[in-house]
Amino acid sequence: MSTEPTTNQRQVRTLNVGPRISREKTTVRIMIVKYCKGHEHLGAGRSKAEVEGQAICRECGELLTYAWKRLEHCRFGENKTTCGRCPVHCYKADQRSEIKTVMRYAGPRMIWSHPLITLRHMFDGMTS
Ligand code: SF4
Ligand SMILES: [Zn+2]
Repeated sequence: MSTEPTTNQRQVRTLNVGPRISREKTTVRIMIVKYCKGHEHLGAGRSKAEVEGQAICRECGELLTYAWKRLEHCRFGENKTTCGRCPVHCYKADQRSEIKTVMRYAGPRMIWSHPLITLRHMFDGMTS
């Protein structure tokens, strides 16, 4: 008898790479970088991480990695709603609290620098 796992057993899941997911990954990167720089985390002695050529602190880098993973594995893929209005909400409590803090800070500060992104805010509904 074969010991090869079936497709179901392997639970093959491809990562989300569509335009909406990519756009939301960019949005969350911009917001976390804005938050990190605005709070001068690196100047406060936090250790450094590199994200697409931009230096941010390690903690913010970890939050960004976490948010990107959630998006890459989002069960709704390209049909997702905004994370703030999601019926499932896949974030753990700590990261959810952290991302809400980031969104509260960065959202209003992006109205002029990134108006389109602000309009399509991926975390709409999550800042209250
Ligand atoms: S919160 Fe909902 S919409 Fe956002 S990544 Fe998780 S499952 Fe997808
Ligand atoms: Zn930071």
